[in-house]
Amino acid sequence: MAEDCDIDTPEPPPSEPGRRRFLKTALASATTAGAASLPLLGVAGESTAAPTTSTTGIPSRELGSSGIQVPILQLGTAQRLDPRYDKVMHRAFQEGVTWFDTALSYGWGSSHRAIANFLTQVGDRKRLWLTSKSGAGNVSGLHKGIDEALAELGTDYLDLYLMHGIDNLRMLDREYLALGEELKAQGKTRLFGFSCHDGNVVALMNRAAQVGGIDAIMFRYNFRRYGDLELNRAIDACHRAGVGLIAMKTQGSVPRDLESVAGFRSENFTLGQAKLKSVWADERIDSIVSEMDSVRFVRENVDAARSEKPLTAEESHQLNQLAALTAGYACNGCKHLCEQTVARDVAIADTLRYLMYFECYGKTGRARDQYRAIPVARREASDAELQHACQVCPQGIDIPARLRRARELLA
Ligand code: SF4
Repeated sequence: MAEDCDIDTPEPPPSEPGRRRFLKTALASATTAGAASLPLLGVAGESTAAPTTSTTGIPSRELGSSGIQVPILQLGTAQRLDPRYDKVMHRAFQEGVTWFDTALSYGWGSSHRAIANFLTQVGDRKRLWLTSKSGAGNVSGLHKGIDEALAELGTDYLDLYLMHGIDNLRMLDREYLALGEELKAQGKTRLFGFSCHDGNVVALMNRAAQVGGIDAIMFRYNFRRYGDLELNRAIDACHRAGVGLIAMKTQGSVPRDLESVAGFRSENFTLGQAKLKSVWADERIDSIVSEMDSVRFVRENVDAARSEKPLTAEESHQLNQLAALTAGYACNGCKHLCEQTVARDVAIADTLRYLMYFECYGKTGRARDQYRAIPVARREASDAELQHACQVCPQGIDIPARLRRARELLA
């Protein structure tokens, strides 16, 4: 599915203070010609990529200041993959999507195994850029994690290894940065960084921009976040520091019946494509990871990536309207705001994320599994306990009602 957004108006509205100069040329910095024929890495003049049969031309951008050109669209692989022959992976690859994003936790290892088989079928590891992640919260676990990932993927190196879903600044202490340097020196990964779903993303990005040693950050970014001044400043800081930025959760999804109320209209793009174009319009973002779970979505996203048409002011305006109309159903994951107002530990952001998986993506099994992994006491709270959380929520979400909805659907 397509998952993203941004703005492309010549004069950004005052409500979007952080989104200004980058609303210029969506793909101006992208190399459209022949991108698919050098799909992977190309360190300043040194292409490690073997020639590919792809003839598509997904634009590329430099990942941070690494000197490495990467495609602006990558395939997320948290969805169910066919371990024998996965037609979505093959189609995406043929179309020039040569960057696959995975993690030890995806499909409880099945994502890695399916990609390993795909690599065998492709027959040349260097034709694919591979990111994997470990959720281990300590150095030894991250060490073990990359070895497990390499074994499961059947490769001897990753292109990018991420500490998965971190929200603690401690993970940017010297010992973790030294680990990244060590793994790169050992040739186990070319680049090192982290992903962040929730909470501390602004603080983490600001710290990463200062400490060095973080090559890339994957973070939640979509058309709903453009008015977030602090986040925009953190993005600026990382961009200036040469940290590569990868956007995820770019669709900012809410249930489809709610989106349909807004009635997005465009002669050029579907709503999903417009959301992607919107993020690519931000020149600070190097690539988007999108979980494309059907050939149709691969085609749609690839078409959007290839299109040189920017969003019109009217299309951008419609996205702004959609963001405003559906804000109450779109959790940004800023759990440091709401969860700290509750006297005990309640998993508000995680619960709303799993509810999104169920309501928006139709991932009923995954949503239920992950919801049920939350201890019962952390899933629920009374209206009185959540009163202050509702007051501080920037999206105006009716948190008690949404937690009740999650219980109905997922418990
Ligand atoms: S419920 Fe509101 S405050 Fe809490 S994480 Fe979601 S958007 Fe942020």
